[in-house]
Amino acid sequence: MNDILPEQTPVWQYLEQQVRSVLTTYGYQEIRIPVVESSALFSRGIGSGTDIVEKEMYTFEDRNGDKLSLRPEATAGVVRAGIQQGLFYNQVQRLWTSGPMFRYERPQKGRYRQFHQISVEAYGMTGPDIDAEMIMMTARFWQKLGLSEHVTLELNTLGTLEARVRYREALVAYLKDYESELDEDSRRRLTINPLRILDSKDRNTQKIVAGAPELFDYLDEESRVHFTGLKQILDEAGIAYRVNPRLVRGLDYYGRTVFEWVTDSLGSQGTVCAGGRYDALVEMLGGKPTPAVGFAMGIERLVLMLETLQLLPESVSNRVDVAVVAVGDGVVHRVLPVVERLRDALPELKILMNCGGGGFKAQMKRADRSGAAYALILGEDELGSGMVTVKSLRTDSAQQQLPIADMAEYLQKVL
Ligand code: ATP
Ligand code: MG
Repeated sequence: MNDILPEQTPVWQYLEQQVRSVLTTYGYQEIRIPVVESSALFSRGIGSGTDIVEKEMYTFEDRNGDKLSLRPEATAGVVRAGIQQGLFYNQVQRLWTSGPMFRYERPQKGRYRQFHQISVEAYGMTGPDIDAEMIMMTARFWQKLGLSEHVTLELNTLGTLEARVRYREALVAYLKDYESELDEDSRRRLTINPLRILDSKDRNTQKIVAGAPELFDYLDEESRVHFTGLKQILDEAGIAYRVNPRLVRGLDYYGRTVFEWVTDSLGSQGTVCAGGRYDALVEMLGGKPTPAVGFAMGIERLVLMLETLQLLPESVSNRVDVAVVAVGDGVVHRVLPVVERLRDALPELKILMNCGGGGFKAQMKRADRSGAAYALILGEDELGSGMVTVKSLRTDSAQQQLPIADMAEYLQKVL
């Protein structure tokens, strides 16, 4: 679990702002839900045979003896909230939420025990148009962040539950013949969650899987039509994708469309955004049947990408615009109101006031370290004559004095 320090937060804020502004323009609304839910919600929603529920949840009993878990993902909680608050009743919803998620995993680059996701969900729409809208919206995120050429879209369809049950039988029958050659995890999954074997990272298992029957051949007609419809919209929108018949995702609630945006600039933790359809989930958790589609983005991995690929605009920093130097004992109470008037005049200006005293030299050093472009120096002399000394901290131009009354106009011009 990481501390995210002040030197890193501007990148997080930039990323979150860019994504939020796109979500808002597509009409998605924010929902905020608790970090803790009853453990049963996750085992019922995500599936008891999944890695997340089997080995990764932080679960505890509260004083009442209720079994609770720190959320490993947001969708189950959003569905719980939607059912309890009647959000799905005769209406469509476009929602997003963000915050920390918790999974007891082996920590490594791009994989942490507390990590952060932006989770986006749409309820009440059955057609492939909403799947496509979501994918197009993610493509717009990458465009805004300058990541487009560094990510690719993988797409698959899992069909209906019945189709997967039929496929599961065929897959298990095939894999049984190779049981002793499978990696340990996959052998275990053969009985509890055989579809997950399809995306095993083990080389030898991958070779075996390459000859396995394909889910696509077991699909029901409606799912085929849905998938064709989705591909058609993406083709027309000029969104490139690769159909990956082995893409299955690690949560049981997915059906029909699944997708992942992957990158090769992060090493092995290459999935930055993943999602799909979960038409059965609302009903499974006690609501009326409600079609749904959504995805989650891993913020840490996207931050890593922006940093490694050096895609951050200059403005992404903790730098202020101006630093105020208050010279002399007992002037600060006269300087602070001047600074407040400046804040009134230029509400966007980032101003770092020197509080806590200090000599002129020490204050100038702080001003320089703040990254400010200008120092505004206000002392006994200046205040007496209604003037301010302006010193450029990043160029050699000579310092100058101007009337305090003209300070805002001047700064607006030069900054
Ligand atoms: P992976 O295959 O990498 O384990 P997942 O299938 O478990 O991912 P999801 O549960 O779909 O992932 O989560 C969506 C996204 O959240 C992932 O694509 C990734 O960007 C991010 N993510 C998931 N687990 C972690 C983690 N432990 N640390 C950091 N980011 C994570
Ligand atoms: Mg995982």
